[in-house]
Amino acid sequence: MTEHSHDVFHRSGAELYLESIPLSQVARDFGTPCYVYSRSAIEQAWRAYDEAFADRDHLICYAVKANGNLAVLNLLARLGSGFDIVSGGELERVLHAGGDPRRIVFSGVGKSAAEIHRALEVGILAFNVESVSELERISSIAAGLGRTARVSVRVNPDVDAETHPYISTGLRENKFGIDIAQAETVYHRAVELPNIAVTGVDCHIGSQLTRTGPLEDAVGRIAALVERLRRQGHAIEHVDIGGGLGIRYRDEAPPTPAALAEAVRDRLPADCRVLLEPGRSIVGNAGALLTRVEYVKHNDHRNFAVVDASMSELLRPALYEAWQAIEPVTVNADLVSAVYDVVGPVCETADFLGKARELAIDEGSLLAVLSAGAYGFVMSSNYNARVRPPEVLVDGDRAHLVREREPLEALWRGEHIPG
Ligand SMILES: *Cc1c(COP(=O)(O)O)cnc(C)c1O
Repeated sequence: MTEHSHDVFHRSGAELYLESIPLSQVARDFGTPCYVYSRSAIEQAWRAYDEAFADRDHLICYAVKANGNLAVLNLLARLGSGFDIVSGGELERVLHAGGDPRRIVFSGVGKSAAEIHRALEVGILAFNVESVSELERISSIAAGLGRTARVSVRVNPDVDAETHPYISTGLRENKFGIDIAQAETVYHRAVELPNIAVTGVDCHIGSQLTRTGPLEDAVGRIAALVERLRRQGHAIEHVDIGGGLGIRYRDEAPPTPAALAEAVRDRLPADCRVLLEPGRSIVGNAGALLTRVEYVKHNDHRNFAVVDASMSELLRPALYEAWQAIEPVTVNADLVSAVYDVVGPVCETADFLGKARELAIDEGSLLAVLSAGAYGFVMSSNYNARVRPPEVLVDGDRAHLVREREPLEALWRGEHIPG
């Protein structure tokens, strides 16, 4: 799947294309910096999950936080996707994009009363509950509305996802979920509460997983829990095994959805619908950030390519020291290559997109930062009063503007100077 997604970016002669469109044309038509995504890569990645789990009842709930653009959500809704949301804002995005509320699961440790109220009103599939207090809050709001809330408890299976500490969520010391050792007590409490129907068990152990081992362990522990819960009379209908499959940024070889399905197949409890919450692996390699070199700058130790994108548009390198491939969009054989730190205009030392990259570039060169479809635009900010970049969705030989570049006025919208 990862390989397929990479295929949508391909070189023809000197030019880097996305599907049938030269990226230099996207930059010319929409300006830089600019996010660009491939419809075909997103659809292929989603279908790879759907096919991998085709032999059993399943629902792929795309994790909206990876990329919440309405056009992206709409593509997935039309394939029949479910959605994993973590806020009331994401709920409204999904509804706006045509998503089916009955295919939404709601995750997150801090659901507000208003968010719970709205989710019950539209009739979501399940709340992934992360504490007893949340359970009690959901029960009382559901009772007030005369509705029944379907819940699954997010358990923390205490497995090491072997990923970056900031994106590892399945260990006991973590704020996420309920310790698997306490899960049964929480389920007992849940069935005592009015207007609560316990329907599932949920986990999500982390992101950018590059082996199936930790997921196999987690699923094994969840299956054992499901068996105990069923013996105690709980009607567990689904297990949600979360998201987290990694993508190839550099030289990783993460498992495909098919390999994941194969690895967990025999461990999943029988007669249980399987839910998955992939985010990064659906959209990550389907997108790039286009940016232009403003200045080339040298000192005794380093060469810098100062580009027109920054940590405000793409935070991952600054936040996680994440490595993303950076390639010239048009190869110019007349330029000699040098080793550059690719940095943005923002006044922070952490403002870099890549360090020590060998590139044959000059002022004015157009660069593509690859693997930028997930946790790219969604983490962008207006820091340094920079407007958010546009988003473009490529479909064959057409490029659709799916979010406009923010106008300058957006920077002070809603602000007031006391008179
Ligand atoms: C972030 C998140 C996901 C998606 O993770 P990916 O690594 O992008 O697949 C799924 N479920 C929950 C609860 C999350 O917080």
